[in-house]
Amino acid sequence: MALLSLGSRGPEVVTVQRELNRQLFPRPNLSEDGIFGTLTAAAVRAFQRQAGIDIDGIVGPQTRAALGIPETGSTFTHRVRLHFRSISLTDVPFETVLSHTQLVYAQHGIKVEYGSGMSLMLTPAETAQLEQIDGTCTWSITNGEYANLLQRGGSVPSNEITVFFVNRFSESINGCGGHMANRPACIVAKAGTKWCTAHEVCHVLLTSSFTPVHITNTGNLMHPVDITRSATPGLTPAQVTRIKASAMCVPI
Ligand SMILES: [Zn+2]
Repeated sequence: MALLSLGSRGPEVVTVQRELNRQLFPRPNLSEDGIFGTLTAAAVRAFQRQAGIDIDGIVGPQTRAALGIPETGSTFTHRVRLHFRSISLTDVPFETVLSHTQLVYAQHGIKVEYGSGMSLMLTPAETAQLEQIDGTCTWSITNGEYANLLQRGGSVPSNEITVFFVNRFSESINGCGGHMANRPACIVAKAGTKWCTAHEVCHVLLTSSFTPVHITNTGNLMHPVDITRSATPGLTPAQVTRIKASAMCVPI
């Protein structure tokens, strides 16, 4: 894996400069000259701060994933688009949730795209009712507070996934990948780790018919417990194959 840092040159640096000009706010207006100088390094650090990832001014795997630039010698073959709907802000900053979700899937050539984000704008009575999501997380949600929540958030294309952020569940879980028919979605609790969203999205992509649902290797994203990890969790080849066969994982 080539790290790009101060002094690097070449077409990959041009790609980094172009993405920084598109994605960093305020716009850095870097000249896209393929020379990684001090202005580019400063823009990389600003982008890392904006994305909630480690700030070192070096373009490595995490920064590449957050910028949506594939690893050297590889390309993104698929994309998954996520729409975020919140009752509650997560304990982990939103940018960190998004960048770590991107990082997990980028390892496997899948680009996670931000589709849209909005608050559910509940009335005080609705807020009180959905303060805690009562009921049981199941694959097929048809009624109760889960359904009450999952039918909100406006229309989203049926091959894109809505991620709902809530305060808590009545069960001791940090997330639920179950959803209503033809409305792919998952729910993540405020207390979820920075990997929780990637895990619940994975449930949606794998669907209920894939086994094993969970894997007791802590290095796998689908470990059953939402644990804090320092290294980016991965996926097995079988999981990747199944995910790429999903209608929600679109070839690009
Ligand atoms: Zn799970």
